[in-house]
Amino acid sequence: MADVIDAASAVVWPKRCMFCGGAMFENSRLTCDRCRDSLPFVNGKVCSKCGRGKSECTCSSATLYYDKAVAPFYFETGVKKCIHALKFRSHTEFADPLGEYMLKAFNEHYNEEAFDFITYVPLHPDDLKLRGYNQSRLLAEYISDKTKIPLKANIINKIYRTQKQSGTSPMERFGNVFGVFETAKGLDLSGMNILLVDDIETTGSTLSECGKMLFLAGAQRVCCLSAAVTKLKKKGRN
Ligand SMILES: [Zn+2]
Ligand SMILES: [Zn+2]
Repeated sequence: MADVIDAASAVVWPKRCMFCGGAMFENSRLTCDRCRDSLPFVNGKVCSKCGRGKSECTCSSATLYYDKAVAPFYFETGVKKCIHALKFRSHTEFADPLGEYMLKAFNEHYNEEAFDFITYVPLHPDDLKLRGYNQSRLLAEYISDKTKIPLKANIINKIYRTQKQSGTSPMERFGNVFGVFETAKGLDLSGMNILLVDDIETTGSTLSECGKMLFLAGAQRVCCLSAAVTKLKKKGRN
């Protein structure tokens, strides 16, 4: 009976695909058929540092304070829309399904890691107050829940507000986040292997600055997991 009601309600109130907004008549699905076959997955040979496909990697130019970064998607098309909705339009219900894709990437790339805990890129307290939630924390909570690796909140604090990173050059991005994070005084992370979760990896500047703080507190290894990674323009390409 529950199945019949479920099927009937799916016709009357179809679930919307979180990537394109299209109606779906099967409640168990994460995405519609069209998106399922066309999502911008990161696949093939992946750079072990930035998590992009080899053809998209631009790693050589910057020193990044983390060991590895991984993401299930490129920040494009429906994925971009979905993450924007999660981040700026209070669609917090997208966190768990996005987290499910991140979990797949986690299982693929981090199955041999022994993480001591999971933490996430913080918002400035004023921004957290305005938004009411930290989307990266929601993603980290999902990963923690499924992997049973403990989540530690408030490990990193954002002490200065930053301007929006979109529309700025890579150099500006690194300058923009320099010195804006700190860890709690006296925090000892000696020998720890930490999973750092974020929503979008762009130049890696934010992850790197957070990673630097974790290393300064003694961390031994920092690996990153984001919902999506941007494709950067390479020299010689437009
Ligand atoms: Zn769709
Ligand atoms: Zn790379």
